[in-house]
Amino acid sequence: MPRGEQHVTIENKRSERSGRDLSSLRGLAGGGVHLPGDEEYDRARTTWALAVDLRPAAVAFPDSAEEVSAVVRAAAAAGLRVAPLGSGHNAHPLGDLADSVLMRLSGMAGIKIDAEARRARVEAGALWSPVVEAAAAHGLAALHGSSPDTGVVGYSLGGGISWYARSLGLAVNSVTAVELVTADGSPLRVDAEHEPELFWAVRGGGGANFGVVTAIEFTLYPIETAYAGMLVWDLRDAHRVLSRWARWATDAPDAVTTSYRHLGYPPIPEIPEPFRGRQLVIIDGAVLADDAEAERLLAPLRELGPEMDTFGRVPAASLMRLHMDPEQPTPGGGRSSLLDELPPAAVDRLVEVSGVDSGSSLFMKAELRQLGGALGRSRPGAGAVTRLDGRFQLITGGMMVGELARQTVADCERVVDAMAPYSRGRQYLNFQEEAVDPSTGYDPSIWEALLRIRKAVDPAGLFQANHEIPRG
Ligand SMILES: Cc1cc2nc3c(=O)[nH]c(=O)nc-3n(C[C@H](O)[C@H](O)[C@H](O)COP(=O)(O)OP(=O)(O)OC[C@H]3O[C@@H](n4cnc5c(N)ncnc54)[C@H](O)[C@@H]3O)c2cc1C
Repeated sequence: MPRGEQHVTIENKRSERSGRDLSSLRGLAGGGVHLPGDEEYDRARTTWALAVDLRPAAVAFPDSAEEVSAVVRAAAAAGLRVAPLGSGHNAHPLGDLADSVLMRLSGMAGIKIDAEARRARVEAGALWSPVVEAAAAHGLAALHGSSPDTGVVGYSLGGGISWYARSLGLAVNSVTAVELVTADGSPLRVDAEHEPELFWAVRGGGGANFGVVTAIEFTLYPIETAYAGMLVWDLRDAHRVLSRWARWATDAPDAVTTSYRHLGYPPIPEIPEPFRGRQLVIIDGAVLADDAEAERLLAPLRELGPEMDTFGRVPAASLMRLHMDPEQPTPGGGRSSLLDELPPAAVDRLVEVSGVDSGSSLFMKAELRQLGGALGRSRPGAGAVTRLDGRFQLITGGMMVGELARQTVADCERVVDAMAPYSRGRQYLNFQEEAVDPSTGYDPSIWEALLRIRKAVDPAGLFQANHEIPRG
């Protein structure tokens, strides 16, 4: 975003909807504040989630923790809220921003790797791709997800399911320190020794419920390669493949983390030839074991005769692109839920609503992330979220453009509703792209503690999170 533009011509700019005086925000963040009517405003409010039409009272692009503090103080003085955002991958559930400053952290993207300590410190706007590459240069791996351009902070503080997750747990449990600007504009560093209660809450409670995170530190792991890849079948094979995978995934050792998907690729030139215009089943993932053990573990899936099999030993950094997630802003959206089990009746039902005869319009008709292993075990002291209360993460998604949006939502809801008998309504909030009751993301005793800490840290409710913990 171009900086240094001083919009001094309108001295007493007022919010069009709330009537609040916004002139005190002018000139902050080195001129990187954009108000409705400004030339840059529309570009400033556009995020990765192109389908989400955010209309904040102002957009600020701070370049330092000091600039974050100044914007937080000015916003509070003007009676505005502050909604911090990284990439925008989970901007969908953010509520009305008419009285909020959208705080975009993309200008703060510094990365430091301490190879000896196996630790990274990254600023709030860092995306995964450069972090993974910087760590790999030292033979180290981070617990990144399937998308190279999700923000490290939002992903990590909301949980973080990586391709190493069933061995090494959620990314949030590897966070060792968080730097944030609190509601009074003060910078604060929290870790196991300093403000341990807030450090506990922010790890899983999400950054924006407690402040604007300016940097985080986390552990890196000595992983240089993994046995990883994908297996591909036509979608007509879904029932036979899902029946096997559902049993296999439940019994697999922690070394294995995979995903199972029903995909419908459009017949457009941007899609590479083997996938273009096809409806497919794809299982992808990683095994942290030697080749012989990995091949033994994958044998039951390979027995099903995939038409493509790319599994083999690969550099760990390549896992970032294994899932082929979009790397540019996308007008998509979806629905998700945590499932407890996938008995044969659930397999039948999922194939019925997302298989080849389902009539689903969705690109991602259904995805199941394999949970369990380390993701199913509590880790006392490692933060507010240390386990996911389900065996499978169900995700569906498609394009949210124009008329198509209604069909996408209907098709997504059909899949989630069909699987409701296998869910207790628990959520992994990072994958939840609609506003839901956020308490469904936590065990009840943890939720009570988060309510209390949110109220103590941000009594006036200055900060606006995508999945907001109420303050009263
Ligand atoms: C294509 C795609 C692939 C994905 N793959 C995975 C995956 O493999 N594993 C997984 O676990 N999840 C995955 N996700 C979900 C992902 O974890 C969430 O979308 C996450 O919120 C992304 O973080 P972000 O910072 O980019 O998001 P943003 O939308 O920028 O932020 C989401 C929320 O995080 C908080 N936040 C962000 N930055 C700050 C900050 N500096 N200070 C305070 N609060 C902040 C705010 O509450 C904000 O509303 C995926 C999502 C998509 C769309």
